[in-house]
Amino acid sequence: MGKIVDVTFTLKTYKYEKPFHITNSISKEATNIEIKVILDNGITGYGEASPSYRVNGERAEALMAMEQFIKEQIAGRDLRDYRHIFEITDKLLSAPSIKAGIQYAVMDALSEEIGLEVYRILGGAKDTIETDKTVGIDTVENMVKEAVKIRNEGFNVIKIKVSEDLKKDIEAVLQIAEATKGAEYIVDANMGYTPKEAIHFVKTIYSKGVDIAIFEQPVPAHHIDGLKFVRFHSPFPVAADESARTKYDVFRLIKSEAVDFINIKLMKSGLSDALAIVEMANTAGVKLMIGCMGESSLGINQSVHFALGTGAFLYHDLDSHLMLIKEEFRGKFRQEGPRIFV
Ligand code: MN
Repeated sequence: MGKIVDVTFTLKTYKYEKPFHITNSISKEATNIEIKVILDNGITGYGEASPSYRVNGERAEALMAMEQFIKEQIAGRDLRDYRHIFEITDKLLSAPSIKAGIQYAVMDALSEEIGLEVYRILGGAKDTIETDKTVGIDTVENMVKEAVKIRNEGFNVIKIKVSEDLKKDIEAVLQIAEATKGAEYIVDANMGYTPKEAIHFVKTIYSKGVDIAIFEQPVPAHHIDGLKFVRFHSPFPVAADESARTKYDVFRLIKSEAVDFINIKLMKSGLSDALAIVEMANTAGVKLMIGCMGESSLGINQSVHFALGTGAFLYHDLDSHLMLIKEEFRGKFRQEGPRIFV
């Protein structure tokens, strides 16, 4: 059984097809790190880190400087004892995307070594999932146009970014719902509302007879009381995303009864904390969705296998690779519109 002899980081920049606008942030490109784990028998495993300054305080250029140190930490380790590698990389609290990419690269190498797909190593709960696709912040007219395009591509769940302008946000959601009948909606405020604004938003939408499947991160990340206030006054389920990075965050959210849903992202938690969050949420009766940062197909592959293996998610928001200019496809999965298969 192979031992790790080398780990390499490669900086990769991917351009968005069009600038991706969410609350207080416009992304033109994603700067990711391809992580390669090499075994003494020549087998390789790949992972990807998609660092987020907005959520994790990370910068890819700074993370690249950790390559040699990480290699020293995990060189010589046997893949079968991957929990040891999880423990070492759990220390990467200020580099969670690196933690995710390394933990996945190790699973990918193990998968190659034993000839079993990662989703099967993780439990093989499902062999297909369906993802949503996202409408970024824009004029109401452009947002409706984009939503109709997404609906026509076959997507049944449309994610809508809001919160820079309450009145316009309400108008955008109502018009999108009118133009894309039969779809479900996840609405993501990316921390941009006060609790009172958030309640006004959902109550107005509800009063017009429109349904929202998940209202994501209405208030700032550390405002747990605010999340709880919104949860108990909202007619729709409320999710934590930016508030839920580690398993410790999720433990506090559950204890506070602050949310109905947790949005797990490997780039916030790595595989190790994501696995813990799945078990904790299942135990507490909190529902789960899975999301992404700016991963290419290589990084989305990680979340696809995690979602299929655990079978833990009611909603899948794994669309970043669809929003980036198409490059060589690196996923170990197939995709037809919203439907993802292994
Ligand atoms: Mn979100």
